[in-house]
Amino acid sequence: MAQNTLIVSNWKMNLNLISAKKLISKLKALKISKNIKNIVCPQYLLIPHVKDLIKSSQILLGAQDCHFEEKGPYTGDSSIVLIKEFGCKYVIVGHSERRAFHKEENLHIRNKIDIAIKNSVIPIVCVGESYLLRQKGSYLKFIFKQLDECIPKKMGQLIVAYEPIWSIGTGLVPSVDDIIEVKESCKGFLKKNKKIEDIKFLYGGSVNSKNFFEIREKCKVDGALIGGASLLEKEISNILKGDF
Ligand code: PEP
Repeated sequence: MAQNTLIVSNWKMNLNLISAKKLISKLKALKISKNIKNIVCPQYLLIPHVKDLIKSSQILLGAQDCHFEEKGPYTGDSSIVLIKEFGCKYVIVGHSERRAFHKEENLHIRNKIDIAIKNSVIPIVCVGESYLLRQKGSYLKFIFKQLDECIPKKMGQLIVAYEPIWSIGTGLVPSVDDIIEVKESCKGFLKKNKKIEDIKFLYGGSVNSKNFFEIREKCKVDGALIGGASLLEKEISNILKGDF
């Protein structure tokens, strides 16, 4: 039986209520394979609206982040409890934009994963190196450290999104061999050091409808985390309508 392919739309801080409604109604009208998990991650204020809009559709809801505590004096943050209450089945954690602009460290991300699992929300854990580390050849060491410090031991199914920072929003995409190397290395590391075998490996970074199918086919990834192209109706529709 065909494996599920996860297409995760990371809308980031984009779309207003009107444009979100428009995009969701287009996505709802698509005929897509049952093997695709179409996961949409809107900004917080849109989540309750999108929850209503996706009723009786195949679309699943995710959040772009959560706090590592369930409640407390954390001005501006959102709790996983509320995220779950509003229908999110997934939460992205450790995105490089959170690490860069909100100074999130691996320890914060580790705690976010713990709180997500405790609340039965599935974390999508982002890892990935800078251009400098790629040039220096120390990218695997860096990614292993991220995995080591972020991932608890012996968790059930794990979703890892490999997102090289230099690829996000730039149009630059690693070669097929580069993605395969990171995928195999991460799986090996997690198996050996965390005893985790059930791993869904996503690629993210400048994915579009032209490059996705080659990445999916040649790298045998389990799906993609998609930023810019997920906002463009034609782009995301062409990806979702693919033959999986
Ligand atoms: C992202 O930021 O998660 C991402 C993959 O962005 P983009 O597709 O725009 O490179």
